[in-house]
Amino acid sequence: MHSQLDAVAARADAGVEPALDQLIRYLAIPAISCKPDRAPDVVRLAEAVCADLAALGLERARVLHLEGALPIVAAEWLHAEPGRPTVLIYGHLDLQPADEDDWETAPHAPTRIGDRLYARGSADDMGGWVSHFAALKAWFDVAGGPPCNVKLIIEGEEEIGSPNLERFMDAFPDVFASDVMVLTDCENPSTDTPGLTVSLRGLLELRLTCRALSADVHSGLWGGMVPDVSIALARLIARITDDDGRLTVGRVDVGPTRAAAGRTVPIGADELRGGAHLLPGVNPLPVRDRSAAEWMWWQPCLTIVATTLPTLDRKKNALRKEASAILSLRVAPDQRGEDLEALVTAELLREPPGGVQVTVERAGWHGEGWLYTPKGPAFDAADRAYRRAWGRSLVQVGVGGSIPFVALFGRRFGDLPLILNGVMDPLTTAHGPNESLHLGVFRKAVLANVYLLDELAALGG
Ligand SMILES: [Zn+2]
Repeated sequence: MHSQLDAVAARADAGVEPALDQLIRYLAIPAISCKPDRAPDVVRLAEAVCADLAALGLERARVLHLEGALPIVAAEWLHAEPGRPTVLIYGHLDLQPADEDDWETAPHAPTRIGDRLYARGSADDMGGWVSHFAALKAWFDVAGGPPCNVKLIIEGEEEIGSPNLERFMDAFPDVFASDVMVLTDCENPSTDTPGLTVSLRGLLELRLTCRALSADVHSGLWGGMVPDVSIALARLIARITDDDGRLTVGRVDVGPTRAAAGRTVPIGADELRGGAHLLPGVNPLPVRDRSAAEWMWWQPCLTIVATTLPTLDRKKNALRKEASAILSLRVAPDQRGEDLEALVTAELLREPPGGVQVTVERAGWHGEGWLYTPKGPAFDAADRAYRRAWGRSLVQVGVGGSIPFVALFGRRFGDLPLILNGVMDPLTTAHGPNESLHLGVFRKAVLANVYLLDELAALGG
């Protein structure tokens, strides 16, 4: 049996370059789901992927449609020996938009530079599911098929929050029915260390408004005795943040185990500088008494995402009647959004600066966080597969953002093993300019996928 697995792995390794060619063909299609005029591109990509899956040897390859939704590609192969599990593999077709002016290469003209492939979607998420295609191709070529049953789902609306994915789950339940789910849209902590994603933060938006006057008035006549709502707004934001700019309200105790795990995650100044486009001379925030991983994955944080403060083009010598800001609050994975909302609101409403009227309203709710405890044979199997391909154990990582499809899978299928992996690394800049895939990560992902199917097959159904 081992000689066959070795042969599949060797075939997969030899298939990496053809898989990159296939990826490059897909990446040339600007399948941007948030732009209605790009919907035909999402459909065109779905049809191309569907045809390729059928050619690869998968069965029932089809493009699923629902009214008002971009399509999903589904395919399966269910001819494994009796007693073998069914593994569902998820990825997404669609892309974030790319502002060409900020890119050094054309975002939809994939370009290899050094050990990276630059293109929108190269790592988020086309490289992720193409790495599965390459592993499956090797299994079909050498062994006539994978060692377990496989279902594939490639979604078309992940980048707009998967608004119709649950409808697809309801309309096509057999497409999702499985024993283990491999959700490939996540990040590795470095190009040498494979990541297993086990947490997400939630996202809550509050609208903070300060009102003082029924009309703007002359700042020269009244300044000194009349409150400035812009300053009141700034002081309120300062009240809930420290000098580093971090949210001080609602911090959670992650416990000694996670705190220690966070310190082992290799996120250093270089990853932060490169990944977050820090200007020369600007340093990441000091970690203080926690780790970078804990700050970015497991603590709540605040970003000001919109304000009505006077803008440079609306300058006038006036005290304004009101000012608002949208506070975007990332909710810790094990924190209730309502609890963070209550704490922040109470702090903002006490003792209004300058006596202004302060209101806090909920402006958006994008879901709770998610904290998962991977336990059991599927995760041991995944770790063995990754150690073999990467030479290192899987490191449990979090995602600071909110990925609606993960929360949805967690809610609908949380009693199944959910293996969240991917081909992103800290320099990928998913959603930003110059998104890229590390070619070494891609090669290791292809091999890990080969070994993962072998390991999961041995678990039984
Ligand atoms: Zn993605």
